[in-house]
Amino acid sequence: MAEHDQGFVLTRFDTLMNAVRRSVGAKAIDMAAPVVNWARKSALWPMTFGLACCAIEMMATGAGRFDIDRFGAGVFRPSPRQSDLIIIAGTVTLKMGPVVRRVYEQMPEPKWAIAMGACASTGGPFDSYSTMQGVDRCIPVDVYIPGCPPRPEALLYGLMRLQDVIMREAPSAYIFESDGTVHRQQEFEDDDGLPASSEPEKVVATV
Ligand code: SF4
Repeated sequence: MAEHDQGFVLTRFDTLMNAVRRSVGAKAIDMAAPVVNWARKSALWPMTFGLACCAIEMMATGAGRFDIDRFGAGVFRPSPRQSDLIIIAGTVTLKMGPVVRRVYEQMPEPKWAIAMGACASTGGPFDSYSTMQGVDRCIPVDVYIPGCPPRPEALLYGLMRLQDVIMREAPSAYIFESDGTVHRQQEFEDDDGLPASSEPEKVVATV
């Protein structure tokens, strides 16, 4: 068989497999959504990553007095490749932005981000030439925690809100396309408590 014919057959096979995965596979996975989401929310592994004073509060949250392990999120990992949660704790400078982005992109899907404190959320008191006015200018953020700094209880509250977000997600939303892009979508409830639109919202990463 000629080389271009083989390529044509493989492309058709790829398209067929994607169609099966999207229809049958997605339905099967979504039926198990409560269990999959419960497992995900109960075993978040945060990245060991702190940028400024808020990081001290994040460290305190891991200590015995506050015990973040109660929420299954006490296993801080030293590598982004082993993490599924990044807590941006501290001031993000423009110079640090590309580094934050690179660390985030090295984390495998599914992954989530918390902006901890005023600086990470909005730039805080530093409306200056060197400070990024919110880390959501370089990575997508799931939960924002106000305060300067927020206390450990606030981080735990933010973590519980993130767990709520994860419980509303459709596991099949993480569709791995053959071209390497990852589409992520969440199923949010509307005002009547019914699932809202489930169209893919945006591309958050290219692998
Ligand atoms: S929000 Fe306040 S405590 Fe947190 S990094 Fe900024 S200045 Fe420091």
